[in-house]
Amino acid sequence: MIRYPAKGVSLPVAETADVVVVGGGVNGASIAYALAARGVTRVVLCEKAALASGASGRSSALVRMHYTNEWDARLAFASFPVFKHWTEIMGGPSVFTHTGFVNVVAPPYAAALRKNVEMLRSIGINTVALSPGELRDLQPFANVEDLGVAAWEPESGYADPAATVEGFRRRGHELGARILQWTAVTKILRRGSRVLGVETSAGRIDAGAVVAAAGAWAPELCREIGLEIPARVKGLDTVQVTRPAALAQPHLVFIDNVQGSYFRPESGICTIVGVPCQDWDLDPDAPTVLPPGAPTVGAQILTHRIPAMEGATLARGYRAFDCYSRDRHAILGRVDGIDGLYLATAFSGSGFKIAPAVGMCVAELIVDGRAKTVDIEAFNLRRFAEGRSPEGPYPYAPRKDHAGPD
Ligand SMILES: Cc1cc2nc3c(=O)[nH]c(=O)nc-3n(C[C@H](O)[C@H](O)[C@H](O)COP(=O)(O)OP(=O)(O)OC[C@H]3O[C@@H](n4cnc5c(N)ncnc54)[C@H](O)[C@@H]3O)c2cc1C
Repeated sequence: MIRYPAKGVSLPVAETADVVVVGGGVNGASIAYALAARGVTRVVLCEKAALASGASGRSSALVRMHYTNEWDARLAFASFPVFKHWTEIMGGPSVFTHTGFVNVVAPPYAAALRKNVEMLRSIGINTVALSPGELRDLQPFANVEDLGVAAWEPESGYADPAATVEGFRRRGHELGARILQWTAVTKILRRGSRVLGVETSAGRIDAGAVVAAAGAWAPELCREIGLEIPARVKGLDTVQVTRPAALAQPHLVFIDNVQGSYFRPESGICTIVGVPCQDWDLDPDAPTVLPPGAPTVGAQILTHRIPAMEGATLARGYRAFDCYSRDRHAILGRVDGIDGLYLATAFSGSGFKIAPAVGMCVAELIVDGRAKTVDIEAFNLRRFAEGRSPEGPYPYAPRKDHAGPD
């Protein structure tokens, strides 16, 4: 059941658009901007609440390119310059903080990581494999005893998630996109195999194309028109601590595959740590509460990797959610059998850093009939029926928080 917001705009009895984008998270905002930048004159983005009120606003927003598959890596690689050169490309203040990034794995996955580093370097990504000792030289306070190898990206870092969405909104608006907040899409309209537009809380919008970028709400939105997407809503918990004086300098962004977690610096002397969460099938509209044990687990993860974090103090924490597909990769592209419907959803806890390229690719698909920035065919919904997945040949230990119902 889709709930409607109390606030809203009113539309003329029937507005007409070339493309309606459903959802004002980082991906919907990026798509709306990219369409407008490609010269599509009538782009309307409908967001049922405030922009960035879903996963995007609460994202840890790591901006790195390390993946164990080529396709996500290519999306991250194509997106990275947008973050790095945000002011030149998007205007407005920078949203990116450069720290450097490492992805660390246990000894049994050392060979797999080296293979992945080779694959990433062949794409053009600036990354090298470091021994535990070399990582220790970079981060003298880190415990490297249980590590096999680390993939280092000297240029990576993290972004300000809300400012990123706002940047896409601002540029999209400047280029003519209509961004409607507090405007829920209550139904995608279709006749037979053709999309006709959307019904919204403010009236109907006729459109030649509709992009479902509705995050955790996408499965329900699609179900209403008889389209089942293999995706479910999962919780993501994060805790923020204030670092002790001995760790006043920012550390690298870490993805810690040994512990199935990540952490990154935040605004000066704080650090955000991801706390593995296996709560599935949450209602994305329900109030979210951080489980009481999460700060302790977060502290254990941090102090294991950086023992001096023992002196850190809890600043805050929260639970958010994202839409996870069955194979834990995004669902992107056209929908077979429903002309004019495009999906950009199920980013599976990893859809922030790739949003600039997702926007470009979806805009290219709609305008040119084919994504050129990155070939996104590997992410098409039909892969599930065909038994394909974008995953590469050298995955690491499956993350416990990714295990769950299909
Ligand atoms: C705690 C946390 C940490 C994360 N860390 C990272 C990270 O470090 N790096 C990374 O790359 N990714 C990360 N992610 C994942 C990433 O943030 C998400 O994959 C990404 O933000 C999803 O963006 P989206 O635009 O698809 O969805 P959302 O941001 O969820 O946006 C969907 C929007 O659609 C709107 N909507 C829904 N239904 C309707 C409707 N019917 N009508 C109108 N509007 C509607 C919602 O209100 C919402 O605003 C993290 C996520 C979380 C929660």
